[in-house]
Amino acid sequence: MKVLVINAGSSSLKYQFFESETGAVLAKGGAERIGLDDSLITHTRNGDEKVVLETDLPDHKEAMEQVLSLLTSPNYGVIQSMMEIDAVGHRVVHGGEKFSASALITPSVKAAIRVCFDLAPLHNPPNMTGIEACEAAMPGVPQVAVFDTAFHQSMPAAAYMYALPYEMYDEYRVRRYGFHGTSHRFVAQRCAELMDKPFDSLRIITCHLGNGSSIAAVDHGVCIDTSMGLTPLAGVCMGTRCGDIDPAIVTFLMQKEGLDHKGIDSLMNKKSGVLGVSGVSSDFRDLEEAANNGNKRARLALDMFVYHCKKYVGSYSAAMGGVDALVFTAGIGENNYLVRESIASGLGYMGLQLDEQKNHGVRGVEKELSVDGSQAKIFVIPTNEELAIARETEIVVRSAMAR
Ligand code: AMP
Repeated sequence: MKVLVINAGSSSLKYQFFESETGAVLAKGGAERIGLDDSLITHTRNGDEKVVLETDLPDHKEAMEQVLSLLTSPNYGVIQSMMEIDAVGHRVVHGGEKFSASALITPSVKAAIRVCFDLAPLHNPPNMTGIEACEAAMPGVPQVAVFDTAFHQSMPAAAYMYALPYEMYDEYRVRRYGFHGTSHRFVAQRCAELMDKPFDSLRIITCHLGNGSSIAAVDHGVCIDTSMGLTPLAGVCMGTRCGDIDPAIVTFLMQKEGLDHKGIDSLMNKKSGVLGVSGVSSDFRDLEEAANNGNKRARLALDMFVYHCKKYVGSYSAAMGGVDALVFTAGIGENNYLVRESIASGLGYMGLQLDEQKNHGVRGVEKELSVDGSQAKIFVIPTNEELAIARETEIVVRSAMAR
């Protein structure tokens, strides 16, 4: 099946066009600065050089139409006509409690995604804009929503509830949702394949460590806990986000710094994390360079990140009664062997023993990193959220066709 995967942001629209059975990427690219000056589209046909087109993109619908023209153009295209697109898969960040799986987009699914606008104001509205742009540009082509929150919907109430008045949950659905679910599921399933064991027989801890980071406990095939919460601000400290802090700090700083809710929100989301602590950068490559040159705050930021991750790994092992595999993925997890080494060191008591030689210098490839014969396994597994969305889309469309 030929599946177009769309990830729409407020002024961007990224796409990857897959042959979903083989996982081959036929073309990929993105529209940038939609609705702004100097908008452009980048497009790469498999095996060709990237092309950059400077073009007017007043809205997402126009951007989608121009992407479709590229996909069908004689010079840059990979298909003769739009009719060859079998389905479109959309990344949708928040599915609330309504979606524990991907869904074929219908008017009622769209209404349910709109209900979640409140919970993800920066993400769900542009995701919806992307859906509507595709509906307008490709009428009749099935569209599927794949939610970042869906994989975590299996968490038990004891893990997802906050100890606030229950009415806050009843009234506003304030609870833990978790994010990066498509990635956690993708790498956990791949881990089971690599171990040649059934997915539902394993206790796996997945560490999605990138600019945004989250950790999940996948117990016998289902997620039972994850570090992000109502929003992607919770959990381990991140590039610019503070992660878990004493909630009383919020009102304390609002008072001391004279901040309103937007001010404190921006401080915690954009000025905190390893950037805020180090004063250097949110990028771990810059932090390591600074730390190696003697910058103490950069070293502290790295130490804090590792310590937070290690605590989550320990707590999820406790929650699952042990662990069979630890998986690292995303920008830092896939590329930063020193961070992997620091997180995994001293976990031998849990059966997790990192082989430092195997781990040394490994970047962006799939590999087992544990000592031969160790009880539990450690892996680095590159994530591929777009391919996971393409495969989900195919499953949803095929099951809808079979009905
Ligand atoms: P992501 O949000 O998944 O793109 O991850 C971004 C983080 O991954 C940044 O902190 C980078 O330092 C790190 N990262 C990405 N690529 C590399 C690389 N090739 N080598 C080392 N770190 C990398």
